[in-house]
Amino acid sequence: MGKTIKEENMGHVSIQALSKSYTEKRRRARSVNGNGSYERGEQMLVLDEINLEFANGEMVCILGPSGCGKSTLVRILAGFEQGTSGRVFIDGKEVCGPSSEHVFVFQYSGLLPWLTVWGNVCLGVRKMKEKEKMAERVQQNIDIVGLTGFEHLYPHQLSGGMQRRAELARALVVNPDILFMDEPFAGLDFLTRVNLREEIINMHILIKKTIIFITHDIDEALVMGDRLVVFSDRPAKVKLALPLDFSHPRDFAKTPALSDLRKEIYSVLGVHYAL
Ligand code: ADP
Ligand code: MG
Repeated sequence: MGKTIKEENMGHVSIQALSKSYTEKRRRARSVNGNGSYERGEQMLVLDEINLEFANGEMVCILGPSGCGKSTLVRILAGFEQGTSGRVFIDGKEVCGPSSEHVFVFQYSGLLPWLTVWGNVCLGVRKMKEKEKMAERVQQNIDIVGLTGFEHLYPHQLSGGMQRRAELARALVVNPDILFMDEPFAGLDFLTRVNLREEIINMHILIKKTIIFITHDIDEALVMGDRLVVFSDRPAKVKLALPLDFSHPRDFAKTPALSDLRKEIYSVLGVHYAL
C-alpha cells in the first residue's frame, strides 16, 4: 500500500526480439572514382533476436566473448543507439533515446581532471536548488564508495581503483533507477579488481538499483550477479540466462553448485582446457 505502480516497476527492463546489424563500410579503390569514397558494404549482424527480462533491483551480469555485441546492447538499452528490429522497454516505456532520469551510463575514465573528487561528484546534482541537501547527497555517495577523506584530491592524485570509485559516486549521486557498467574494471590490476567487485556487491545490497554489469570475466560474473546472461560469439545470441541464487560472499571451493556452473559456462563458451 502507498506505493505507486511506477515505484514498484522502477528499473524493470524488457528486451523483446532485439536485433542489430551494422553496415560494414568499405573504402572504394581510388581508381574507381578517384576520391576514395565509401561504398555500401554487407550487413553485419551483431545482436540476434535477444529476448530478456530483468527485474527491478537485480544485478545482471552479461558475459560474452570480446566483440560479440555487449557494448552494442548497452548502448541500445541506454538509448544512445537504436536496434534494427525489436523493442526495449524500461519500466513499461519504450526506450527511444537517452534518459538521465532513469538510466545512467557509468563510463570509465570519465572524471574531469580539473575538478576534485567533490567537484566531479557534484556535477550530476549541480542544478539542485537547496545547496545543503546537495552537499549532503554528494557526501553520502562519496561515503558509499569509500572515498571519505579524499574529497579534495584531483583525479591524477588517485589510484585507478579510487578513480573508478569516484566515477561510481558520480553515477550514483543522480539517483538513477538503472546503472549500466560496461567493463568498468578494464585496465585494473587483479587485486584492485577483486576488491572493487566486493565493494560493488555491498553497494548494490545497500542501494538496490538495477545494475547491468558487462564483463568477459566468467568468475566476475558468477561472483557478482543476481542474474547471469551468457552471449555467444558474434552475432550475440542468448546462450544462457539464469538466476544466481547464491549468498554473498561467494566461494567456488565451498559451493559445488557454483563451480559446476562455472564448468558449464566454460563449456558453453567453448573453452575446454580450463576445466
Ligand atoms: P563487445 O562489447 O562485446 O566487445 P561491441 O558491441 O563493441 O562488442 O561490438 C560488436 C561488433 O560490432 C564488433 O564487431 C564491432 O566492430 C561492431 N561495431 C560496434 N559498433 C559499431 C559501429 N558503430 N559501426 C559498425 N560496427 C560496429
Ligand atoms: Mg565492449
